[in-house]
Amino acid sequence: METDEDTIDLRSDTVTTPSEAMREAARDAEVGDDVYRDDPTVNELERRAADAVGTEAALYVPSGTMANQIAVHVHTEPGQELLLERESHVYRWELAGAAKLSGTQTRTIDAGERCVPTPEAVHEGLVEEDLHRPGTGLLSLENTHNYRGGTAIPADRIAAAAEVARDAGVPVHLDGARVFNAAVALGVDASEIVAPVDTVTFCLSKGLGAPVGSIVAGDEAFVDEARRVRKLFGGGMRQAGMIAAPGLLALENIDRLADDHANAERLAAGLDALDGVSAPEPDTNIVVARTEDAGIAAADLVTACKDAGVGCVEFDEYTTRFTTHIDVDRDDVDAAIDRIGDVVAELA
Ligand SMILES: *Cc1c(COP(=O)(O)O)cnc(C)c1O
Repeated sequence: METDEDTIDLRSDTVTTPSEAMREAARDAEVGDDVYRDDPTVNELERRAADAVGTEAALYVPSGTMANQIAVHVHTEPGQELLLERESHVYRWELAGAAKLSGTQTRTIDAGERCVPTPEAVHEGLVEEDLHRPGTGLLSLENTHNYRGGTAIPADRIAAAAEVARDAGVPVHLDGARVFNAAVALGVDASEIVAPVDTVTFCLSKGLGAPVGSIVAGDEAFVDEARRVRKLFGGGMRQAGMIAAPGLLALENIDRLADDHANAERLAAGLDALDGVSAPEPDTNIVVARTEDAGIAAADLVTACKDAGVGCVEFDEYTTRFTTHIDVDRDDVDAAIDRIGDVVAELA
């Protein structure tokens, strides 16, 4: 969708545009050829990113999808099973990349509203290699859980699921595209959420506001191998300091995610008060609104909202997602509630 000036774009936290400071940092960035590891800005970003999640090392990559797919590729052998949650991003929204790029077979667990499989479910899902069975190569978890509405999963639940896999010798990856949203919502340091897993992905280009880029992090040995796989997948970048410099500023935007969460809470309350609309209080910056009682299909709501100057996305037949972010303030949220209220009154 082309957005005009007046549109309040709540489709995703990926729609944020770089601040003036980020544009200046990009222009002034010290650069070098990052494939030769000569780019000081990328090197600093990777160091600071590792610190932010408490890992030994980190790698800068073009997208969250590439970060996850690199992790799958490093951890697994072709033919092994990849165990993950039924509604996870790696399973639903990455074009079967794990099968196509790494040759894994996927086994899913339905974790329901809990969002993270119970230790029992992980135990049941693990496959031990034998004459007939391929063995599980990786357990992948997600926090916050995007499709379930930005749910912030407490560190102890991640730890409980991870422990079962690791005890069986199976590594654990965390798709933490929005792990800092989880950390801020739970009032803990992100490193606490990441501690029980082997590797983690996070996005600089979502709520943190960078124009491009994600991180995949883990120990030195993992990151060395991940660097080779990034090259294999075509993600080796040259003077990437130009885009890493805004990424460094993005890492300073972690604490302000609390504003997005407060705005999301305000938006959910406003939508929930509309006739026929239910929007539970969100944990983080993702508001999920159901309009089944109003008899409004999500596809129709999205189209009408767009015409009324509010961007949102369809999740399923009667479910629509609204995401708050750094380019949306409290007044925008109030204006969005008014506009959506008019749309709902018209369509119901
Ligand atoms: C956005 C997202 C990704 C992918 O990130 P891209 O940069 O869009 O490729 C992966 N996992 C989750 C949970 C996400 O929300």
